[in-house]
Amino acid sequence: MTIKDYKFAGKKAIVRVDFNVPLDENGKITDDTRIRGALPTLKHILDEGGALIIMSHMGKPKGKVAAKYSLSQIVDAVAAALGRPVQFAEDCAKAQDKAAALKPGEVLMLENLRFYPEEEGKPVGIEKEDPAYEPAKKEMKARQKEFAKVLASYADCYVMDAFGTAHRKHASTAVIADYFDADNKMLGFLMEKEVAAVDAVLGDIKRPFVAIMGGSKVSSKIGIIENLLGKVDKLILCGGMTYTFAKAHGGEIGNSIVELDKLDVALGVEELAKKNGVELVLAPDAICADSFSNDANQKIFPSNAIPEGWEGLDAGPKAQENFRNAIKGAKTILWNGPAGVFEFDNFCDGSRAIGEAIAEATANGAFSLIGGGDSVACVNKFGLADKVSYISTGGGALLEAIEGKILPGVAAIKGEGAK
Ligand code: AMP
Repeated sequence: MTIKDYKFAGKKAIVRVDFNVPLDENGKITDDTRIRGALPTLKHILDEGGALIIMSHMGKPKGKVAAKYSLSQIVDAVAAALGRPVQFAEDCAKAQDKAAALKPGEVLMLENLRFYPEEEGKPVGIEKEDPAYEPAKKEMKARQKEFAKVLASYADCYVMDAFGTAHRKHASTAVIADYFDADNKMLGFLMEKEVAAVDAVLGDIKRPFVAIMGGSKVSSKIGIIENLLGKVDKLILCGGMTYTFAKAHGGEIGNSIVELDKLDVALGVEELAKKNGVELVLAPDAICADSFSNDANQKIFPSNAIPEGWEGLDAGPKAQENFRNAIKGAKTILWNGPAGVFEFDNFCDGSRAIGEAIAEATANGAFSLIGGGDSVACVNKFGLADKVSYISTGGGALLEAIEGKILPGVAAIKGEGAK
């Protein structure tokens, strides 16, 4: 079923959204992108005469109730965004009465799903190495099904619109779908858009295809890097992983961030790039700091000749030029992860150079996809959000989709063979 075709009139829809929004110390939302992202789906259901049950997680409460992760803090913001009152169910697994009483046009939001360990379906407080882990996991999986069944019992149909958690097989993102037949479950508009954006990058790739992977570590991105090496024409690797590559060749990297146990991984990436004929673009120089702070003294060193007492926090001027040249002329672009510690205004020029080059290539007809919280924050920081083709709300989910994995949240709706 598709959300456009479904007749919501007189029906109750339970919608999984990603309202895991950042809050300040007073519980005020600092970035409401995720709420805005879900609005087309939520408003459509209400406009069509349906009643809404909204469910989400927030933070990592690890299966326990924790006031600082309560979704009650965002009820007013959601009500303001929808332009109507939002009721709240303080216990997401005991909302039967409130759900049953909902009338068309009314909205009920459930408390944080992750207050129940059943949502994630992983045993809490037992280490993986513990012999008790596997039996506990089995038991938890059974409890997860029961939990999903309770959530499903609140509604006539299920809408999955939480792209940010679509790579997790949780009760609310996937397991719940088993309790609805194919005619009563569907992806929301945000999910449809995200899946289409991934298709636009991977489906009919317009070349040259340039990917930019940054961030702090190579280890968390190695899967996607290896995968991209089978797809792209050029791969820019920047950010903290620069120094793992420099070290792998015996370079001096001072106090720069490094993964000493991943030196062989870095060499393997270089070898695979060569084998696949992919141009690997690494930063030859770095803007270095004498401490990890915005106000530190700055000096430029080659990335493989950084003296003790200094650490590379951003891509150097030569690197920035190389990145710009590599992005220029691209027809498909994927960017995940900053080129430096962009949170520091004095160390964000490398990330800015990338963002600006992407904007220019996009103006010249490239399709550019930006994903992962930090690269999205970069694009916003530099005022380039409307100069790129698509900004994904997903980090891990986007990368897994680009890797070609079927996201559990998509498979739950469309079947295992779904694209
Ligand atoms: P990730 O979560 O792996 O995508 O990494 C994002 C983080 O990497 C950002 O918070 C950046 O500040 C950080 N980062 C990027 N470059 C460096 C660097 N050279 N040294 C330390 N941290 C970095």
